Amino acid sequence: MFNFSYQNSTRILFGQDQIKQLAELITPEQKVLLLYGGGSIKTNSVYQQVTAALQAAEVIEFSGVEPNPNFETLMRATDIARREKIDIILAVGGGSVIDGAKFVAAAALFEGDAWDILAKGANVQQALPIGCVLTLPATGSESNGNSVVTRYETKQKLAFSSPWVYPQFAILDPTVTYSLPPKQVANGVVDAFVHVMEQYLTYPVNAPVQDRFAEGLLLTLIAEGPKALSDPQNYAVRANVMWAATMALNGLIGQGVPQDWATHMIGHEITALFGLDHAQTLAIVLPALMQQQRSQKREKLLQYATRVWQLQHQDEERLIDEAISHTRYFFERMGIPTRLADYGIQAEAIEQLVSKLVQHNMLALGEHQDITPEVSRRILQLAL
Ligand code: NAP
Ligand code: FE
Repeated sequence: MFNFSYQNSTRILFGQDQIKQLAELITPEQKVLLLYGGGSIKTNSVYQQVTAALQAAEVIEFSGVEPNPNFETLMRATDIARREKIDIILAVGGGSVIDGAKFVAAAALFEGDAWDILAKGANVQQALPIGCVLTLPATGSESNGNSVVTRYETKQKLAFSSPWVYPQFAILDPTVTYSLPPKQVANGVVDAFVHVMEQYLTYPVNAPVQDRFAEGLLLTLIAEGPKALSDPQNYAVRANVMWAATMALNGLIGQGVPQDWATHMIGHEITALFGLDHAQTLAIVLPALMQQQRSQKREKLLQYATRVWQLQHQDEERLIDEAISHTRYFFERMGIPTRLADYGIQAEAIEQLVSKLVQHNMLALGEHQDITPEVSRRILQLAL
């Protein structure tokens, strides 16, 4: 195992009726910027629960944060946060709203052009405090320091990370996920699954504790994900999916092990250019990347085949083939097609995607940094 330094500062409040705790988590003296998306929270009682708990506080609302949040929208929220001297940002929604809150929190205190945080990796040295009420288990954003923002105008989807933007607290009430449309349930399960894979399917470093954490999460998502679709009001299923998604990307399983993240980086370009949902892009890229990188990932692919999919064959090549096809089939069973062509994206798009990767300096991706633009091109060809 590699050396590491690990801290996760987010307090998690998990379970039914936990939104009430906001009354304690936010004090009446704090001025709150309540950030949310397109209005799902108004139809499933989450908004009502949040505003009831915040009765004593001064709250300014900012709605309309898009899925794949837009830089321009977030800059408008940033102006409000500055002008109103906001003390804490409360994000109520999925990964897009929470990622958006992180950018606003950093941008509000940033001196200079806030775009540089994303485009130039400018160092974030302070941020407003953030709290969140998670409504879509998927990204792990509720308990990590990552944020992904899209500039619609230039079709650029870029990320930043900072210890300053970990939410101080995250409320996870599984019942608020009952109202998710099936497509978003599936997106969440697939995103969480791929987060685990990015930190697991690399090469062995004598870290069985991390491997077993990862395999436990994968097995849980494989078992519970389909049940969240077929039995949407099942509390235990929703609770397990929600906690698994948080655990997939709260930093724990990635400590001391190599990490890949090429699937995410290639996927971001597909979203930026063609508007696909984040998880759709991952379902397209991951099986193709597994195929392309099968020799570099060989040992872990064999381990994944036997431990996660319980496959048994003498022929190792066949084990790997089947592990890849089981992964693809799992995404499709969740309702997410796994080919570029399924979304109307043809071979001509590949050059465009590769040139975006080059533009964003994605020249050496993966745990070995051997995914050059040429290798990304081959992955995209395999994904057609
Ligand atoms: P999302 O974009 O936050 O939300 C997708 C849709 O689900 C929205 O239309 C939203 O509607 C709706 N929704 C959310 N909760 C709902 C509920 N309880 N009931 C009904 N509808 C609900 O989805 P996401 O998958 O969580 O976030 C995706 C973003 O996160 C992408 O930009 C991706 O790149 C990023 N990401 C971040 C990380 C990280 O570590 N920070 C990791 C992976 C991905 P409303 O807008 O109306 O609420
Ligand atoms: Fe993701």
